[in-house]
Order: sequence, then C-alpha cells, then structure tokens
Amino acid sequence: MVVELICVGTELLLGNIVNTNAAYLSEKCALLGLSMYHQSVVGDNAERLKESLETALNRSDVVILSGGLGPTQDDLTKETAAEVMGIPLKEDPHSRERIEEYFKNSQYKVITDNNWKQALVPEGAIVLDNENGTAPGIIMEKNGKSVILLPGPPGELIPMFEGKVYDYLNKLQPEIIYSTMVRICGLGESFVENEIRDLIDNQTNPTIATYAKIGQVDLRVTAKAASEKEAAKLAKPMLKELVKRFGDHIYTMDEHKSLEEVIVHFLKERSLTLTTAESCTGGMIAARITDVPGASEVFKQGLVTYSNRAKRKLLDVKKTTLKEYGAVSEKTAKEMAKNGAFITGSDACVSVTGTAGPTGGTEEKPVGLVYIGCCYNNKTVVKEFHFKGERQKIREQATANALILLRE
Ligand code: ATP
Ligand code: MG
Repeated sequence: MVVELICVGTELLLGNIVNTNAAYLSEKCALLGLSMYHQSVVGDNAERLKESLETALNRSDVVILSGGLGPTQDDLTKETAAEVMGIPLKEDPHSRERIEEYFKNSQYKVITDNNWKQALVPEGAIVLDNENGTAPGIIMEKNGKSVILLPGPPGELIPMFEGKVYDYLNKLQPEIIYSTMVRICGLGESFVENEIRDLIDNQTNPTIATYAKIGQVDLRVTAKAASEKEAAKLAKPMLKELVKRFGDHIYTMDEHKSLEEVIVHFLKERSLTLTTAESCTGGMIAARITDVPGASEVFKQGLVTYSNRAKRKLLDVKKTTLKEYGAVSEKTAKEMAKNGAFITGSDACVSVTGTAGPTGGTEEKPVGLVYIGCCYNNKTVVKEFHFKGERQKIREQATANALILLRE
C-alpha cells in the first residue's frame, strides 16, 4: 500500500509557516507501515494542484491532502480533488447542520454564504466530522484509489486523523506493525550509526531507523507480519543484537519514557535521594529531574555553583583544588559530588563542571571539556567528556550524560 502526501497552501511555499502537518502525517503513516515515496507542497492554485494530484494518483494508492478546505476563495482543494476524481459535489445535509450548530456555539453568529460551500461533499464520500472547526474532512474512493482531504490547521487535522483516518488507513494495510523504540544515551549519533551500518544496509523486515537528539539517539525497529505475535518474533533478533552492541547505553525500550523518567524511577525503586551540584549546566539537570511528576520523592536539592566562591562556600571545594587544578577538573568534579552528597545528606550527588564556550577555552582545557562526577555509597566516579558543538549543545550533552551516569 503506497501513500502519498500533498500539502496545499501558498504560505507553505513562501516559508511563512512550517509544514508540521507533513511531519505529523509522515510519522503516522510510517508507524502504520504504509510506504511513502513522495510528498509535495503546492500553492493555492487549481491548475497546479490538479497536476500534482493526477501525478500522485498515477503512482500511489492513497493520496492525503492537507489544507485548502476552508470557506474562502483560495480554498479549492475539495473542488479540485472532486474534479480530478470525476465525482460531482452535492450538499450534505448532515454537514450543513453541523455548520449551523458550530456557528450557534461560536462567537461569530453570522453565517456568510461562503460557509455553505463547506457543506458540499463529493457524492458517495465518507464525511469526517470536524470537532474543532467548520470544514469537514473527506474520503473519496474510486477505482481502487483513495483521496483523503484534511483541513490545514493542525488543531483540526490531528484530532480528525486520530479519529477516523487512522482506522481507515489501518484497515487498508493488511499487515500488523510492531514497533519498538530503543533509546540510547551517552553515545554520539555518528558512532551509533556506524555501529549499526551493517544492520541498516541489510534491513528488510524488520527495518531500523535512527532519530538523533542532542545527547541521545533513538533507534526504531519496525517489523511487519500477519499477527502481532509474528511481528514481535521477527523483531526479536534485531532487538537482541542492539542490546548486545549498545548494552548499558540503552536506557529504555519504552518510547513514551524519557531519560529523566527512567532515572527518577530507578532512584525511587531503590529509595535513593539525589542532590545535583551543577556548574556549566546551570540547573538543567535539576530542571529535567523535576519535570517528572513525583520527583519530590527522590530529589532533595539542586545547587548551582557557578563561581569558584560558590563552589567553595556551598560545596566546600578546597581552595587549593581550585587553585592547582582549576574549576574545570576531575578533582573539582569529585569534590563537588562527594561534598554535595555529604552536605545535603543525600544518598547520591551528581556534579558537572566544564567549559561550554564559546569563549574561555584554552589549549589545555578546550571548549567542550566537561567533567561529570557521581557520588554514591561514599564512592565517587568522575568521567571526562569532550563534547562538540555550540554552547547549548554542549550543555545539553552534559545534562544527558550526567543523568545516565546516575544509573551506573
Ligand atoms: P481554514 O478553514 O482555516 O481556512 P483550511 O483547511 O482551508 O482551513 P488552509 O487555509 O490551507 O487550511 O490553512 C489554514 C491554516 O492552517 C494556515 O494558516 C496554517 O496556520 C495552518 N496550516 C495549513 N497547512 C499547514 C501545514 N501543512 N502545516 C502546519 N500548519 C498548516
Ligand atoms: Mg483556508
């Protein structure tokens, strides 16, 4: 089953708005296991839209269009699509009623003539009620092809897709999709890709795709089969291989779990309390930990000790340590973590000190040099990192690596 996407709107071509509908719909179609080989953007122009739709229908089974369903003159997706499909438009009494209903409840009480245009529906089409606007969505079928029209505003398109369109597409797709997200932290994107190059090159079923974020890499393993059980069985060897290659760097296989959730859960399970002692991350670790509901059970205190004086006064880092080794040093990170745990009475303390740049780097201590310490059970480990990128990227990588260090 091949699906294709056409996003309609001159403002997309001009760069006035970002095409988030394309990102959303592409991801959903991929999750449904539908193949997508083409997508395009076309302005509010009937001739060019007609041409795009004809081309799409020649090579794809399903064409999804977003935008141009509204009441105004430049909204011509429905009229053009009906013309290309050779299906006449007819007023749909149900849609007319819904438009009346919508205006009764909205601040605009007057229905102008062009609003009735939205009640016109291609004969025999499936009408998708719009719970968040007036333009209904439409599914037309002819000669084994389907054309799906969705409104442009994401607040209308997403609920409509999740309502009926998802099920409609799911039924067209005879195979079950089994997808697992393998989430990795502490390894660079190119390193991860290189490690699985052979798996990517030889992939058929299951497939493997990488999604990189700062400091984290997600690998999506997707298998297709007649039943979920069979698909899960197909995915298993690939998942096992990834565990073998990335081991402890995999922090979860639950796509809805974030790194901070995994860490809070990990600490909670062991009834451990945590303190953060941060310099160059300026509280980012504490912020991510406290993003998790229920963090109060584990998180005791966050100290942002940016200056040497603060490191001395609040964390008791020795004056001689700062003088001899500098703030960005293994020794400082070690004292920050150890003393942080002791002073605040926490079971564990994670510390970060580094040079985030863009200025302040030296040959000996370049920008991107970060030490991350973790004290637990009176034992303190410190790791040295050399992160690449601009200031924010360095800080985010440091934060992710500090979080993952807590699990070790
Ligand atoms: P309306 O009834 O609001 O006119 P419509 O179905 O006619 O809806 P458009 O006129 O094409 O849709 O777009 C309306 C608004 O929806 C745009 O101004 C924009 O804010 C948003 N929008 C449209 N297309 C996209 C897209 N591809 N990605 C993100 N937002 C979009
Ligand atoms: Mg419009």
